[in-house]
Amino acid sequence: MPNIYYTKESNVQLAQGMLDKVNQIGQKYHAVTKKMIHITSGNRTRPGQAQAMYTKFKNNGSVKLYSDQKNAQEIKDAYDKGIKEHKNESTVVKAMTDVIDSQVRRSAYISYHLVGRAVDIRKKGMTSSEIEAFRKAVQGSGARLLNEGEPFHWHLQW
Ligand SMILES: [Zn+2]
Repeated sequence: MPNIYYTKESNVQLAQGMLDKVNQIGQKYHAVTKKMIHITSGNRTRPGQAQAMYTKFKNNGSVKLYSDQKNAQEIKDAYDKGIKEHKNESTVVKAMTDVIDSQVRRSAYISYHLVGRAVDIRKKGMTSSEIEAFRKAVQGSGARLLNEGEPFHWHLQW
């Protein structure tokens, strides 16, 4: 049984293979910092993805954060429409989910979280030397590292 070098929110769902990859990063990070990395998000349902994007847009997050800006904008348009019409949060999230559903039907996935290939790691509280250790730990893991906001976190995808 290998040692575990991460903690996670209780609701985080990830395949063991993904947890193993995160653990390898966590081990390298721990070797330098003596600290654990903390997973805040893993697999997402389509409503879960819509909720995450709702929170992001509400905090002035931009579609520019997404590699697929065209599809991100389509979801943002549903958000903007709902806000403009003074719809409540769950109604707006539902409208955004409908857009994500239609994108998935044409095999366009706005986030690797939808296909079980992304994790978010808490960045809050990391010192600059810990950030450097984290970046180094990710190197060689095969993961693409994105520094995302709202709330600030590291996004890793494989
Ligand atoms: Zn993420």
